[in-house]
Amino acid sequence: MSLAGKVGLFGGTFNPIHVGHLRVAEEALRQFGLKEVLFIPTAHPPHREVADGVSGELRYEMVKLAISGRPGLSVSRVELDRPGPAYTVDTIELLRKEYPEGVAYIVGADIFSQIEIWRDWPRLLTLCPFIVAPRPGVDLEVFRRPPFDRAEIHVLNMTPIALSSTEVRRRYRLGLPTQGLVPEAVDRFIREHGLYGAKRTSPLE
Ligand code: ATP
Repeated sequence: MSLAGKVGLFGGTFNPIHVGHLRVAEEALRQFGLKEVLFIPTAHPPHREVADGVSGELRYEMVKLAISGRPGLSVSRVELDRPGPAYTVDTIELLRKEYPEGVAYIVGADIFSQIEIWRDWPRLLTLCPFIVAPRPGVDLEVFRRPPFDRAEIHVLNMTPIALSSTEVRRRYRLGLPTQGLVPEAVDRFIREHGLYGAKRTSPLE
C-alpha cells in the first residue's frame, strides 16, 4: 500500500537527537512521499530510565533546534504533556484521529525487533503501517517472520548508520570530538547547558 501523503510518526527519547535520526526522517519523507515527519520525544520511556536525567523539555528543545530550517520535519509535545509513561499504542491511536490522511510509525530495526515487550503489541502491529530503518547488526529478515507477518512493514532503503545517542553522550562525557554527530545548534545547546558531562561554555564563547 502507498504511504504517500501520510504523516510519519517518529517516537524516541532523542537524548540527544543526532544526525542518524535526521537522516532516517528525511529518507522516510522522500522515499515514501510522506506529507511530514513528526518527531515525538517521550517524557518517560516505559522500558528504561532517561540517561543523565535530561528532562523532556531539554530534549524537546534540542529536537526543535535540529529540525529548524528542514522542510517537512516537525515536533510534537503529545507525549511530553501526558503524565506517566507514554505508550506508543496510545500515541498512535490519538494521532490517527488527528490526521485523517493517515499515519505511519517510523522505528529503528533494533527497537522494532523487540516488539513483544511493547504494551498491547498485537493490536499495535495492526494499527498503522510501519517504516523500519535498518540498524547495524539487526537482520531485517526477522520482519518477514511471525509476529511481523500481521503488520504492514516498509523497510527504508539506506545503508545503516552506525550512530546512537549512547555514543554521542559517551563522546561528550569523555571530551572526544563530536563534530558532525549532531547539528551545530544542538552541539552549542549541549555545551551551553553542560549536558552529558560536557564542559559548560558561556553562550558568547
Ligand atoms: P540510545 O543510544 O540512547 O538508546 P538511540 O540512538 O537509539 O538512543 P532513540 O532516541 O532511542 O535513539 O531512538 C529513537 C528511534 O530512532 C528508535 O526507533 C531508534 O531505533 C531509531 N534510531 C536511532 N538511531 C538510529 C540510527 N543510527 N539508524 C536508524 N535508526 C535509528
